[in-house]
Amino acid sequence: MREGIHPEYQQAKVVCNCGNEFTVGSTKPEIHVEICSKCHPFYTGQQKASSIRGRIDAFNRKYGIKNA
Ligand SMILES: [Zn+2]
Repeated sequence: MREGIHPEYQQAKVVCNCGNEFTVGSTKPEIHVEICSKCHPFYTGQQKASSIRGRIDAFNRKYGIKNA
């Protein structure tokens, strides 16, 4: 690898909206993402779906909406 022609490669801290943090090799010092392997439905599967349902239930309770 020749020097001077590649951007500086370093460990970047990736911060996800779910609060998960991890590091990857990148040319940027910090990366913000909306979804990561910890919260992506492809990886979490049913666990994520159930947590969304829980939030909908909480919303319905807050506004007094009864579940059908
Ligand atoms: Zn995430």
